Amino acid sequence: MERTQIEALANQFIKGKIDFPETVNPRVQAITLRIVTDLMQTINDLKITADEYWSGVEYIGDLGKEAGLLSPGLGLDHFMDLMIEEDMKEAGLEGGTPRTIEGPLYVEGAPESKAFARLDDGSEDEQGTVLFMQGTVSDQQGKPLPNAKVEVWHANSLGNYSFFDESQSHFNLRRSIITDEKGNYAFRSVVPLGYSVPPNGMTQKVLGALGRHGHRPAHIHFFVSADDTRKLTTQINIDGDKYLWDDFAFASREGLVPEITMIEDAVDLKEKGLGKPYASINFDFQLLNESNSKVQGSEVERRRVQG
Ligand code: FE
Repeated sequence: MERTQIEALANQFIKGKIDFPETVNPRVQAITLRIVTDLMQTINDLKITADEYWSGVEYIGDLGKEAGLLSPGLGLDHFMDLMIEEDMKEAGLEGGTPRTIEGPLYVEGAPESKAFARLDDGSEDEQGTVLFMQGTVSDQQGKPLPNAKVEVWHANSLGNYSFFDESQSHFNLRRSIITDEKGNYAFRSVVPLGYSVPPNGMTQKVLGALGRHGHRPAHIHFFVSADDTRKLTTQINIDGDKYLWDDFAFASREGLVPEITMIEDAVDLKEKGLGKPYASINFDFQLLNESNSKVQGSEVERRRVQG
């Protein structure tokens, strides 16, 4: 079929029959028209058969909540970050700590504390490696920001997140830390492990057909916010992970892989009440000033779990 024919058909299907003009959402209409036109063009160009088409429809029906995993797996979460950055650049917003994908596992309502928090409930004291992470939150000019909010969440030493893994305690490895008067935050936790999409799930089904794995390297998620700055959505990676630069979700970025140091000094261990070496990460966050034009991507609206 010719492109003009396809365009005429899509236009007829999407815009040619309007029963309720008062409910038309022009934005939804425009996006739907474009997607349907491009899908019909794809079916035409790749000679997608009826069998293949219906297996695609069934796949969408079966995908359900795994849509939140397929999206990063196809690179679209990262692509949306790049789109946001294009808009930011256009508005003159550049620099600061790089953003990266939020992922689908944030939970609202984590306990809040000032300057320091212990994230873990102690249940992994035996098998896990204790982690101390600390740093400063500053603005675009490098001025430390007191009362900035550092929301942190990560997987346990088995690669599982509280709430989604019901065996963990409420809000385990999830906290909000308010920086002190010098803009500092610090927390104690356990070094997380990477994780994978469900091996028998719908995301892995597509990844498998693409010859790809569904593993994420170990990482820690953050939202960092303060008055008059853009909210930062980011992650840091645990250096040395086998999948560090082979993340199925394409979230690893230069500038987000801080050095991780093992502390073995006896005096230091005693001070912290630890009987074995611990890992330490220093990482500073730099937030960008919010412009008056409110470029998208500071506060992203999406459905999130309420704790
Ligand atoms: Fe994650």
